[in-house]
Amino acid sequence: MDSILKTEIHQYQYILSRESEAAEWSALNRRLLDEGRECPSMWSGAIAGPGRTKPETGPVELETAHLFSDQWNTACGHRVFDWYLDAHPNISKSCKRGHWLEITPAMREARRNTLVCGYCGHYQQAPAGWGCDSDGNPRSDLEHVFCPDCAGSEYLDEKSLHLRRLLPVEKRFPKRAPLTDAERAYLLPIYQHAQIRGNTERDRKRLAKCRADIIEHARRDVANAETERDGMIWLMDHGIRTGNVIFYDHKGAFCFGWRKPLGDAEFSELTESMGAEFPFEYEIKRA
Ligand SMILES: [Zn+2]
Ligand SMILES: [Zn+2]
Ligand SMILES: [Zn+2]
Repeated sequence: MDSILKTEIHQYQYILSRESEAAEWSALNRRLLDEGRECPSMWSGAIAGPGRTKPETGPVELETAHLFSDQWNTACGHRVFDWYLDAHPNISKSCKRGHWLEITPAMREARRNTLVCGYCGHYQQAPAGWGCDSDGNPRSDLEHVFCPDCAGSEYLDEKSLHLRRLLPVEKRFPKRAPLTDAERAYLLPIYQHAQIRGNTERDRKRLAKCRADIIEHARRDVANAETERDGMIWLMDHGIRTGNVIFYDHKGAFCFGWRKPLGDAEFSELTESMGAEFPFEYEIKRA
């Protein structure tokens, strides 16, 4: 799936007040609309590629790791559209400029043979005979009909299970049919199992991260609790009152004068009593 597709891109600009250009523009419109293309018009700033450049008219290489119904990533890092009309606010309405791509059979096939999950965006190659069996009946081997990847997503609810139906990238925002009884009977146990047990590669990665996070959280909490204990005991053992001292977890530091900032005399008294010895980070709030 991660191959490169070659095609041609055409940058265009037509000034509609010029008769011949107006005619060329409407001919281009007719041809591309006839092919079933839509014409997204948007501000070029939104699609500028590396160095704010745009690919010039001529050959262009498209990457296929991520496919879309109406646009492509180029191998050199640009976003290009099947058809695109620049809607920069400074462009007059009578100037039509943008680009369009020659859509090769290989490009069409890539979109037809790549299935995407409507829930998580997982891509997969369509298995042979995908969609229907040799008699034209819908396939019954349901493991090819639904996404293998997202049953355990913590945001997925039962009502959204049908969104996990894999459909070709070629259709834009296709409606995904509700589940049949057989599909529901197949999916529900998988869903319920996955919601509790992490089995997929993705679940395992997520689990490993949660594990590391909770260990780190505990380490920080324990370190803070020990610092607070040792610091407070140090103060008590040095005859210093602790009613106006607090330990801030988020700073990992003690704060003197947090209830009532210290006046000059109290400040001197405190710093003399602590000397240079208080072995923790602290700050003193002064009046
Ligand atoms: Zn480029
Ligand atoms: Zn999915
Ligand atoms: Zn905590």
